Amino acid sequence: MTDGELNQFRESLLNWFRTYQRTLPWRSNRDPYRIWISEIMLQQTRVATVIPYYEKFLARFPNVKSLAEAPQDEVLRLWSGLGYYSRARNMQKAAQQIVAKHGGEFRHTREEVLALSGIGEYTAAAILSIAFDEQLAVLDGNVARVLARLGAIRGDLREPKRWRQLQLSADLLLAPESPGDWNQAMMELGATVCSPRSPQCLLCPVAQFCQGRRLGIAESLPEKRKKRATVAVQLMSVVLLDSNSNALLLPPPTATTKNKADDHVPSLVSKMWHFPTIAAPKASANALREFLQSELRMKKTASLKPELLTEVRHTVTYRAISVAAYLVRVKQLPKIAEAKSVSLLDTLALSISNLTRKIARNALHHLSARR
Ligand code: SF4
Repeated sequence: MTDGELNQFRESLLNWFRTYQRTLPWRSNRDPYRIWISEIMLQQTRVATVIPYYEKFLARFPNVKSLAEAPQDEVLRLWSGLGYYSRARNMQKAAQQIVAKHGGEFRHTREEVLALSGIGEYTAAAILSIAFDEQLAVLDGNVARVLARLGAIRGDLREPKRWRQLQLSADLLLAPESPGDWNQAMMELGATVCSPRSPQCLLCPVAQFCQGRRLGIAESLPEKRKKRATVAVQLMSVVLLDSNSNALLLPPPTATTKNKADDHVPSLVSKMWHFPTIAAPKASANALREFLQSELRMKKTASLKPELLTEVRHTVTYRAISVAAYLVRVKQLPKIAEAKSVSLLDTLALSISNLTRKIARNALHHLSARR
C-alpha cells in the first residue's frame, strides 16, 4: 500500500466505525476499569452473552477497589455461567495488585499493565489504546482473520512466525492519531462484517483494499488449523447424600487442599466446589463403589445402590468429556479433610460450575420425583 492508500484505508474504516458502531455498555466512557472488565469477559464469549453479566458485575463492583476487596466467592458467583473461572480469579488478583502497588489507579505503560495477573499482550493493548490512546495495535483471532483476508495470507495464523508477521501488519496499519478507535474499528469489522463464515464484502468499508476478495478466496481464509485428534474421557461424579439431605462437596483444588479423592480430574470438571469425581474407562456402579471404598474410605460399599441421574457431555479443548452422575444415599457422609457437607438445595447458591449445578438440579429433580 502506498502512503496515500494507507491514509484512505484508515479514513474509510474509521468513518465507518464512527457511523455504524454498535452501542455497547463498555463504550459509554473510557474508564480503563470498565474496558478491562469487558475485555476479560469477552475472551471466548459472545457479546450478547456478556452484556447482562457485565452490567450486573459493574453494578456490584463499580471500581477497582470494590473488586479488590470483595470476597472471592461473590466474584465467582457473579461470574458463574461465563465459564473459564480463572479469568475471574486473575481479575480479582490484578485488582488487588493495582490497589496495593498503584493506589487503585491504572498505569499507562505496557510493562506495568502486562505485570498484572491475567493480562496479556492483547488485553494490555486494548485497555491502553482505548482508555489512554496509547499507540498499541491489538491482535486477537478476530483481527487476525481480517488481516489474513486483507493480505490474502495463507497457512495457520497461530504459527508463531506468522502471528508475529500479523502483529507487524497490525502495527503498520494502526491509525496513530486514534489508536483506540482504530483498534475497536478493526475488532468491529471482524465481529460484524468480516465474520468467520460469510464475510459481507458488499458492505465492507475497506473492500477495495482487500486482496482476499480480489482473488476470490476471502471465505476460505484463514485456512483451517491442523486439529488435534479428539480424546474421549469418561468421568463419574457422585452426589453422596445423607439422611438429612446433605451432600458432600470437595473444595476447589489448590496446592495445599488438593484431595486424593479426585486429584486427576477436577481441572477437567471444575476449579470450584464440586461433587467427588473420577475418571473410569466405563461408567458403572461397580467402578463407583470401588472409588468410594478406595479413595473416600467408605465401608460396606457393596450394599450401596448408586442411582444414575444423568449423563452430561461437554468439550474442553480436544477432550470430549462424558460425565455420568450418580446419586448414592448413605447414613453418614465420609469424613474428608477440607470437604463440606451442604444441603443439596443450598449447593445451588454456592459458586459452582455449570456442570456441578446441572448435576445438583438433576439430583433434586430425581428426589422430588421419588416422593
Ligand atoms: Fe473481509 Fe470481505 Fe472486507 Fe475483505 S472485503 S476485509 S473479506 S469483509
